[in-house]
Amino acid sequence: MGTQRLQAGDETFDVVSEPIEVTSMSRPDVAWAFTDPAGHVHRWHADGLQAVVYDASRSYDVPSVLFVVDERYVDEDGEERERGHYRCRKCGARVVPGLTADMCRTYISGPKRCYINGQPVTVEQFRARLAEKGIA
Ligand SMILES: [Zn+2]
Repeated sequence: MGTQRLQAGDETFDVVSEPIEVTSMSRPDVAWAFTDPAGHVHRWHADGLQAVVYDASRSYDVPSVLFVVDERYVDEDGEERERGHYRCRKCGARVVPGLTADMCRTYISGPKRCYINGQPVTVEQFRARLAEKGIA
């Protein structure tokens, strides 16, 4: 995050990435695990694998539960929304996925911008020039 600089001969290569704040007051708690009365274990997953650490740039779900819609309503912005709860896919036991809040400000890397000698260039131009220099 921030600026990465590479000096190659008389040329300066910079990659600048502005951090994006993603601090959340309600995000998946990867430490959460729940065993329902039938013995089914429910945990957060990211990209199909059990989540071990929380990374705000990934999307999380609890694959062992189904969302059951209790009510559909239209919010103040005219968007149709659903209110509901989660149940185990196998036995139907009610599951409340664990959430937590970030303890400190959290950031992910934003889009990258590339510069050669201070001049903005596209990522392709940047890579091509680095390749010409025999660096990348
Ligand atoms: Zn179950």
